[in-house]
Amino acid sequence: MLEPEVETRTAEDQFRLDDISFRRQAAYLLDHSSFYREKLAKAGFRTAKAIGGLDTIANLPFTEKQEIRASCTAENPIGAHLAVPLDQLVRIYSTSGTTGTPSYIPLTQQDLDNWVTTSARSYSASGIAAGETIVSTYNAGPFVAGAALAAFDRLGMCHVPIGTGNSERLMAAIRLLKPTAAVMTPSYAAHLIEWAAERGFDLQNSSVRRVLVAGEPGGGEPAMRARLERGWGAKVTEAMGIGDIGISLWGECEEQNGMHLGGRGFVYPELIDPETGEALAMQDGARGELVLTHLRHQAAPLLRFRTRDHVEVWTSPCPCGRRALRLRCVGRTDDMLIVRGVNVFPSAIREIVGEFSPAVSGAILVRPAALGFKQEPPLPVVVELARGGEPEPGLADRIKERLRAALVFSAAVELAPFGTLERSEYKSKLVGQ
Ligand SMILES: [Zn+2]
Repeated sequence: MLEPEVETRTAEDQFRLDDISFRRQAAYLLDHSSFYREKLAKAGFRTAKAIGGLDTIANLPFTEKQEIRASCTAENPIGAHLAVPLDQLVRIYSTSGTTGTPSYIPLTQQDLDNWVTTSARSYSASGIAAGETIVSTYNAGPFVAGAALAAFDRLGMCHVPIGTGNSERLMAAIRLLKPTAAVMTPSYAAHLIEWAAERGFDLQNSSVRRVLVAGEPGGGEPAMRARLERGWGAKVTEAMGIGDIGISLWGECEEQNGMHLGGRGFVYPELIDPETGEALAMQDGARGELVLTHLRHQAAPLLRFRTRDHVEVWTSPCPCGRRALRLRCVGRTDDMLIVRGVNVFPSAIREIVGEFSPAVSGAILVRPAALGFKQEPPLPVVVELARGGEPEPGLADRIKERLRAALVFSAAVELAPFGTLERSEYKSKLVGQ
């Protein structure tokens, strides 16, 4: 364990410390963030005393990504939530920004340091340690992933950055430099299994003992995890962060039963009902949208930020000894479809279809017939067959029945030959045409 004192602290002790940090952060927001001064005043909170502590945080308004975006101007392209003078920033990351203008994520030296600490805790939970060699496959560039990679230096590992889009170079590094760990998206990990099989590269017996996946949900889906572990002959654990709040905030330990909060003390998590916004109790098996609040952030702290990640949480003790909350991402609101009133996540469809392995390859594509998230049943789903696989009689019907039983919606399942669906070296597209 990287920081046993923090990671094994009881939930009650952590809450007490977080409460102190939160009150300090709230006062800081009123003093330094024009965005929150206005927003909180509008909601009737003009003083730190009125804001109170963590026990009443649910009374405070949420922060939506669009509000931050809307506060950006030519004079302040970062947004009105910027809480420090520009000369105190040491880094500005940006998001990929599908709408053209990227949004900027500024950090002070202390923010960056806390991010790396968080990431180091989350990744070390997977069992990687000083002295080992790790290959990474992210083209970090302007993106926050770059800060996550700094965690490997912090852990005293030898980091071999390879980047995306060069599987030859990656496999050469694995063959020649014999890393014991590799970090990539689950989509790329799956793609590389096929890539290696086509070229006779014995991935199962390579030096890689641990594959750390992040960047999209999937690594925690049982069927996907089993497929990756088989193909790589390695243990697969996942990590997850969110650009606006922090990198690799969550990291799975070797028990593989959900990602622990590595950002303990820096970030406060809440669970809400995504439709009503009501707070949900953090207890084993609870599901809802994850909401995060910075506790010790300087550059652009966020309060009750809606992550749009739908998660399942666990609070029961983990055999690894870490006491931090665990969770698994079920899907993103942005990807969610509503089929006659039922919420359906494409990643959940993939998880169910994966149960039919080895008959299927694990790749799926949802092809909505209508524009927008509201869909009429049956929802068209393309399911790819395994390599060289002939469709067994009745397979499509069995998948359809299983989807109906597990996710309560009606699908039109179309089987497609292996290799039909596009492979990704970064993140898989689960919805398209
Ligand atoms: Zn654990």
